Amino acid sequence: FQPWNDPAAKPLVEFRNVTKRFGAVTAVDRLSLAIHQREFFALLGPSGCGKTTLMRMLAGFEQPDEGEILLDGIDITAVPPHKRPVNMMFQSYALFPHLSVGDNIAYGLKREGLPKAEIAARVEAMLGRVRLKGMEKRRPDQLSGGQRQRVALARALVKQPKLLLLDEPLGALDKKLREETQYELMDLQADLGLTFMVVTHDQDEAMTMADRMAVMDHGRLLQIAPPDLIYEAPSSRFVAEFVGDINLIEGKVTAVEGDLITLENLPVGVIELDEDQPSCRPGDALTVGLRPEKIALSHDEPGQGVNKVAGEIWDIGYLGDMTMVQVMVGGDEGKLFKVSLTNRTRRIERPFAWEDKVWLSWDVEAGMVLGS
Ligand code: ATP
Repeated sequence: FQPWNDPAAKPLVEFRNVTKRFGAVTAVDRLSLAIHQREFFALLGPSGCGKTTLMRMLAGFEQPDEGEILLDGIDITAVPPHKRPVNMMFQSYALFPHLSVGDNIAYGLKREGLPKAEIAARVEAMLGRVRLKGMEKRRPDQLSGGQRQRVALARALVKQPKLLLLDEPLGALDKKLREETQYELMDLQADLGLTFMVVTHDQDEAMTMADRMAVMDHGRLLQIAPPDLIYEAPSSRFVAEFVGDINLIEGKVTAVEGDLITLENLPVGVIELDEDQPSCRPGDALTVGLRPEKIALSHDEPGQGVNKVAGEIWDIGYLGDMTMVQVMVGGDEGKLFKVSLTNRTRRIERPFAWEDKVWLSWDVEAGMVLGS
């Protein structure tokens, strides 16, 4: 399922050069984006980058100052919110406190004036779909947070929108429930064959659920790609730092031989460039990124064929499934590297301790070139 790689695939949603300003603030800046049918699309970015504004324009709650928004190839820029086949689920859920679960879910259908029997049948089916059967008579204040979230979801889905917009859908839930609900949302989206666009602060959530995600900053899209590509091949330093942990190494290129480049101020040694990365020449300034889990830690010096550098352990954080180790390279004023170790075996004795002299090593493929 990769319609974004198929030039013949017609997108469900298209933003064309869309700009939205609030006074002096440009919330969305000449942004173009296509989202495909059945896609689970996540928008990620720092607070104030324009995520919610982008979504609200799609729902029709805000009007773009420039550009067009198309749905199924038709310009909907001037179509009012209730006439769009788009529904939005808010972080606050916005449930009616005085209405029962059943009436909350039925509300939109009643307003449309559908026959009673059809409303009852659709509400009933939706209650089953979100595992709330038997709770239709309760009021929202008689439900848990997770159940309220499912009522809000049912209310948004019962109108059978082509596109569901979810603004921080799991933000009000605790960690464990949030993780479970992520998979429920993915199942629901796949089963109903719907298109979801979710806005979230939580990058793990975006990575878990999304077919593709977009990283935004200052009203612009920096990168749009499946989560693994965003993580393993970030297009810029901003994306690399925003998604996941990263060690950044800056230096001047001293030699280029085929795909292999060498940096002047080791600790880096040699980096292998991917084909799609820009070429560089000796003398160029370069930033290289190295994810903490790509680095191996050892007491003995590693052999040939890997990048390696010596350091001293400054900190060890035990996290259960993994251990995060901070290693100082190049003396007290040097550079602190983060290394994450997976705790594969169940053992009480620890292989590394504070102040241990250690070696960091990594394969040439591990380094990511992030520009100058
Ligand atoms: P967050 O993650 O904090 O919700 P966001 O990425 O969703 O942030 P937006 O809410 O889209 O960001 O806001 C983008 C920019 O536009 C911000 O600078 C914000 O202050 C501004 N903005 C948003 N709505 C309005 C408004 N109604 N009036 C004035 N400025 C606004």
